Amino acid sequence: MNNTKYIFVTGGVISSLGKGIISASIGKLLQARGYDVTIQKFDPYINIDPGTLNPYEHGECYVTIDGHEADLDLGHYERFLNVPTTRANNVTTGRIYQNVINKERKGDYLGKTVQVVPHITDEIKRNIKFLGSKNKFDFVITEIGGTVGDIESLPFIESVRQLRWELGRNCICVHLTYVPYIAAAKEMKTKPTQHSVKQLQELGIQPDILVLRTERPLSEEVLRKVALFCNVMESAVVQSVDVPTIYEVPIRMQQQKMDETILRKMKLPIGETPELKPWKEFLFRMKDAKESVKIALIGKYVELPDAYKSINESLFQAATYNDRKLELSFIHSEKVDETNVSELLSEFDGLVIAPGFGQRGTEGKISAIKYARINNVPVFGICFGMQCMVVEYARHVLGYADANSTEIDEKTPYNVIDLMEDQKGVSNLGGTMRLGLYDCELEKDSRVYKAYHKQVIQERHRHRFEFNNKYRAEFEAAGLKCTGHNPETDLVEVIEIPGHKWFIGVQFHPEYNSTVLNPHPLFISFVKAVIENKKNNNEKSPK
Ligand code: GLN
Repeated sequence: MNNTKYIFVTGGVISSLGKGIISASIGKLLQARGYDVTIQKFDPYINIDPGTLNPYEHGECYVTIDGHEADLDLGHYERFLNVPTTRANNVTTGRIYQNVINKERKGDYLGKTVQVVPHITDEIKRNIKFLGSKNKFDFVITEIGGTVGDIESLPFIESVRQLRWELGRNCICVHLTYVPYIAAAKEMKTKPTQHSVKQLQELGIQPDILVLRTERPLSEEVLRKVALFCNVMESAVVQSVDVPTIYEVPIRMQQQKMDETILRKMKLPIGETPELKPWKEFLFRMKDAKESVKIALIGKYVELPDAYKSINESLFQAATYNDRKLELSFIHSEKVDETNVSELLSEFDGLVIAPGFGQRGTEGKISAIKYARINNVPVFGICFGMQCMVVEYARHVLGYADANSTEIDEKTPYNVIDLMEDQKGVSNLGGTMRLGLYDCELEKDSRVYKAYHKQVIQERHRHRFEFNNKYRAEFEAAGLKCTGHNPETDLVEVIEIPGHKWFIGVQFHPEYNSTVLNPHPLFISFVKAVIENKKNNNEKSPK
């Protein structure tokens, strides 16, 4: 295609409507028609990136292949499109201002007064068009974070207004709103949508397509009314009713011909409607699964499942490909201790020990690991989860009662997990961890190798501490094997206990690499082991 086409996705009325899922679904439908698509998110907050944000603020911090700490919506983009994102796919107000201020300090503005318009908006536009300028993508979908009308998103909306003018037919705007149901009146209310569109119009943008989020199906009449009041064609008003899984959203959008409307508006040929066969097969398998697989995730952000979004989705994908329904429970690591661990965890057939930072909840994770190790329950430790496995083994098998990670106890006499050498001089916390893709070489006779069927793998990282190689021989002699390492630095990446049903800890984050059409082999292998474990348990326990 000659000119890259731009699709902007904005949101109105309230936040958390799922702009990320709608953007990913539009991307999926266009990709299924043979177009190269990328999706990017522009976030109006001042942080340079979400790397230093507490998960309670914006949920999980996602990591791109090139080591950018990014918004969790990028995880949705990758899971839907099966194409990796990079740092160019997530830009914040903080980064825009940082670039502009750096240029100002260098004198690039030649004595001009630096202003929101045009300097900040020019920088936003440059970033929006960056991926499109590489001639790699037919479509660049840009999700604008926040809600229209927020003070902080104004410069982004203004940039979109200017771009619509510049790009003409190569640009459309999709606006997502909410239609509430008022029980007392037994009515779906469109007024908030009308107001939100008006607000967008006041800012100079007429949306081309409206997506109405709703908990109940909307009648033709409601859709017609919205079209009439908002200057949008009837065929361009799409409803997005709550569905059991986010992966059904593209199908629902396709049923309403949303992709055709987009192509028509951009004067592109419509062609045949893609079948989305593998995608639909995934959904069929999900619906067909009768039996469930019961897994507990031990972490400290359990009040907010978004904090572990990618792990949750990876387990769900792996369960589906194993023809099981995922029953995932979040167990608060601060509530687990030696006295209640069996009671809290005995109903689960497998455990995942979550990544994390800092002391809070660490001892609970260690108790859960000990329980799983001794009772031969499949257990999967991810990043900090793996580090806790090492500490647990040191304490209870090697007999080093005070063993710890120096992140938790700086003065531990047995620093089995220690700060990485190149982290020692680091004082700035933002973007300074070991981040992004690194090679890992697997031992041929290991379980992890059997899962991947590959000797050298590449996985994403986000950590400062590492397995202390000083103790490696001792661990190995006592039965905890290091079965994956970085070929350049010899950093331990995978540990496992060979005789155990499934005891694997990984320093990397496999959850960032699992997609709907390319589920992660390690999660598949773990869920298989959990299913096996359940079978054994059922056979053992009398009916
Ligand atoms: N806190 C640990 C480290 O920095 C683990 C990080 C994580 O789990 N992502 O090494």
